Amino acid sequence: MTPKCPDCLNEVEILKACGSTDLFCNHCNQLVSKRKAIIDGQVVAPSPEHQPSIKVTGH
Ligand SMILES: [Zn+2]
Repeated sequence: MTPKCPDCLNEVEILKACGSTDLFCNHCNQLVSKRKAIIDGQVVAPSPEHQPSIKVTGH
């Protein structure tokens, strides 16, 4: 399911950065807070139980 922008209700683009995920609305042309984003009618909440291990390449 794709998160939606709380302002325009359009689907937002998911940008994955180092250890975090940002949401960007191409319609509003601005970043959308994960706490404000709408997923399946509910507000997105981080799951503390599930923490994916991120391995840094190089070195
Ligand atoms: Zn928007």
